[in-house]
Amino acid sequence: MNADPLEIQKFSELAHRWWDPTSEFKPLHEINPLRLEWINARAALAGKKVIDIGCGGGILTESMARKGAEATGIDLSDKALKVADLHSLESGVQVRYELIAAEDMAAREAGQYDVVTCMEMLEHVPDPGAIVEAAATLVKPGGHVFFSTINRNPKAYLYAVVGAEYLLRMLPKGTHDYGKFITPAELAQFVREAGLQVDGLKGLTYNPLTKIYSLNNDTSVNYMVACSRPL
Ligand code: SAH
Repeated sequence: MNADPLEIQKFSELAHRWWDPTSEFKPLHEINPLRLEWINARAALAGKKVIDIGCGGGILTESMARKGAEATGIDLSDKALKVADLHSLESGVQVRYELIAAEDMAAREAGQYDVVTCMEMLEHVPDPGAIVEAAATLVKPGGHVFFSTINRNPKAYLYAVVGAEYLLRMLPKGTHDYGKFITPAELAQFVREAGLQVDGLKGLTYNPLTKIYSLNNDTSVNYMVACSRPL
C-alpha cells in the first residue's frame, strides 16, 4: 500500500488535539482561511461534490462543507477520522468521512467529484505521483484539483524543518522529512503525467516576526497548485 505506517501513527498519536488551535495543528488552523478562500475563488464550492484526500481531523473538509459543498474526507488514520467525525457532529456540519486509500477510492468513485483537494499530505507518502493520479481519476472532466506541499531547497529546509521544528517549536521534531519535499516542477510533472493541467501556483509564507501567514508568489517553502481536468 502507498502509505508509511510510521507517518499514519504519528498523526494518530496527535489526533485528539487536532481541533485545539494552540496545538501542533496550529499552523493548519492558521492557513485554513487562506487556502479555503483561494480554493473557493477558483472552484466556487457551494453545491459542489468535493473530496479531501488525507483530510486528517477535517479542518479543510469541514470548512468546505460550511461553504455549501457536499464534502467527503478520506484518510488512513482511523483516530484522525474519528476526531473529524465527532467535530462535524458537534458543529452540525454534514461531512462524510471514510477510512480508505486514495487509490481505492479512485477505483470505486472515478470521475464523481467536481473538486478534489489534497493538502499537506503528499510529503508524507512513499509515492506522491500515485496520489496525484488517484486525484486525477476522482475528478470529473472540467473539475478542479488542488494540492499543497513543501518545496525542496536549502531555504525550505531552514524554514520548514529547522525553523518550525527546532527554533520556533511550532511542530514536533520529525514532523517533516526533507527528502520527501517536492519541488513545484516535480509536482507539475506528476500533474501532467496524470492528465491534468496546471492552472496556477501560489506561495504561502510565514513571517516569524509578525507570526502571520500570507498568500503570495513566493513558492520557495510552502506552496499550493491549482489544476483542472480538461473536458
Ligand atoms: N489535509 C489536512 C491534514 C494534513 S496532515 C489539512 O491540511 O488540514 C497529513 C494527513 O495525511 C494526516 O491526517 C495523515 O494521516 C494523512 N496521510 C498520511 N499518509 C497518508 C496516506 N498514504 N493516505 C491517506 N492519508 C495519509
